[in-house]
Amino acid sequence: MTQRRPIIAGNWKMHQNVAATSDLVENFLAQNYSEEVDVVICPPFTSLPNAAMLVTGSSIGLGAQNCHWEEKGAFTGEVAPSMLLEIGASWVIIGHSERRTLFGETNDTAARRAQAAQKAGLKVIYCVGETLDQRESGETFEVLRAQTGVMADLDPNHLVVAYEPVWAIGTGLTATPDQAQEAHLYLRSRLEIFFGPEAAAGLRILYGGSMKPANAVDLISLPDVDGGLIGGASLDVDSFSAIIRAAANCAAGE
Ligand code: PEP
Repeated sequence: MTQRRPIIAGNWKMHQNVAATSDLVENFLAQNYSEEVDVVICPPFTSLPNAAMLVTGSSIGLGAQNCHWEEKGAFTGEVAPSMLLEIGASWVIIGHSERRTLFGETNDTAARRAQAAQKAGLKVIYCVGETLDQRESGETFEVLRAQTGVMADLDPNHLVVAYEPVWAIGTGLTATPDQAQEAHLYLRSRLEIFFGPEAAAGLRILYGGSMKPANAVDLISLPDVDGGLIGGASLDVDSFSAIIRAAANCAAGE
């Protein structure tokens, strides 16, 4: 079986100004995280240069929360992938459910952003997931099918998928291990169609949706769950660090 290196990524959303970013990153750096886990933090755009200065030379990776598909132009409020690279980011979250539900992101625009990001040299965390209505009406797989259908042109070597059931994001509700494993397995079968069995087996699929220290082991130890995309708990040093330790223990088979 392919051994996939776990990733724990923190989505800070619209939290942490520059000063608060410095405090939090310095606290993270003092934790000496396990080499067995890829740790990525995704602060707001304005905090990225400062965070980049602090994490340079450390094992913590830096990501943004969105980017545009064009390199430049009349796109007020957008940021180009090359601008993110220029300030030291190497990852970007694309298609988060908050972008989809609050800002009109579609499968098509998410795919365009992801393609442009990869072309520029960024690694993409591509988010998918169903709403509560969709789950309750039995449409989960149909939704995941449509959300992944646009991913065929992406480069699997610079891609991480995040399964984030919308009903679990920021709500304190978490998918059960059975629900998470079922969705992840389905997503891997979709990735297999696009990228072939070998690439799909090596691709990391993160779970996101109220992951906390208390549920991290149960989720990350599932066969097709390769880490987490963490919102609320990524803003707390103890919680984020405990989740990283849980991932390291799972990687070590403990
Ligand atoms: C997220 O925003 O991607 C997320 C998973 O948030 P939370 O952990 O707070 O549910």
